[in-house]
Amino acid sequence: MAADIIDGKAFAEGLRARVAAEVTRLRDDHDLTPGLAVVLVGEDPASQVYVRNKGKQTAEAGMASFEHRLDADVAEQELLNLVTNLNNDASVHGILVQLPLPDHIDEAKVLGTIDAAKDVDGFHVVNVGRLNTGQSSLLPCTPMGAHMMLKDKLGDLSGLNAVIVGRSNIVGKPMAQLLLGSNCTVTIAHSRTRELDQVCRSADILVAAVGRPEMIRGDWVKPGATVIDVGINRLPAPEKGEGKTRLVGDVAFDEAVEVAGAITPVPGGVGPMTIACLLVNTVIAACRSAGLPDPEGLIP
Ligand code: NDP
Repeated sequence: MAADIIDGKAFAEGLRARVAAEVTRLRDDHDLTPGLAVVLVGEDPASQVYVRNKGKQTAEAGMASFEHRLDADVAEQELLNLVTNLNNDASVHGILVQLPLPDHIDEAKVLGTIDAAKDVDGFHVVNVGRLNTGQSSLLPCTPMGAHMMLKDKLGDLSGLNAVIVGRSNIVGKPMAQLLLGSNCTVTIAHSRTRELDQVCRSADILVAAVGRPEMIRGDWVKPGATVIDVGINRLPAPEKGEGKTRLVGDVAFDEAVEVAGAITPVPGGVGPMTIACLLVNTVIAACRSAGLPDPEGLIP
């Protein structure tokens, strides 16, 4: 029997609607408009699309959207000065510096300069440390969205075996912490893992965050497992016309869908949740900055 398809697009729409309702409440009851500043350095086409979508969805949710574009050859100090100005700007509650940055800029230095209270990407070491020690923090958006979908689909995750393939700071590691926090037994696999197919087959929850198109095959999936495909890989699609491309995940979807209990598609799975979670984080950061409690009911 084919797996249930976890519809990230619909889930993200619901989440954005809850964010918009919360933004209205904050404006009406507290005269507070959450504001998100996005900084883009250079002209990477994929980053430009992400930044445009972030700005659009921020405005649609009724929040203030600030966009800052800098040339690819901008001096590191100029970027740091901009971040410091945004830290000091009371109308900005969330700051996101779009990655990757050009090689001459020290990414860790830039991320470390963002006020941890405005770090809506959840990449600042203070937020990473808080997550890893079980304290309240701002969570990285992609694993946050994936975790939300898992809890929605499965309810209590206690005692389940979770395997995460990928150990990046932005997906694999925080995903592991979130699942550990939900009492899963967590394995993090990576490029040196031996017998990866067998490791994957032990998973009740299999999270793929590798960046290799369709690497995880159907027979790596335990029957009935829940599969979360974080991968976004663009492949040539000459059948759609010259120069056209198509998106595929890190999981061979057509095979895995026959074995898994539930699976996220690519596109339309984890991807749409990422920006929705960014909006959630901006609302949370705005509430905390105003001394208000975290909004209830935003995160199911
Ligand atoms: P990274 O390149 O930072 O990390 C990839 C990880 O996969 C590394 O830990 C690497 O291991 C591991 N890996 C690579 N090859 C293999 C292999 N053959 N076997 C096992 N493990 C392997 O990627 P990201 O975490 O940034 O992204 C992962 C994927 O998720 C990408 O497709 C990216 O586009 C997508 N993504 C999607 C987002 C969304 O919004 N949905 C957001 C962010 C990312 P090692 O550490 O040993 O090198």
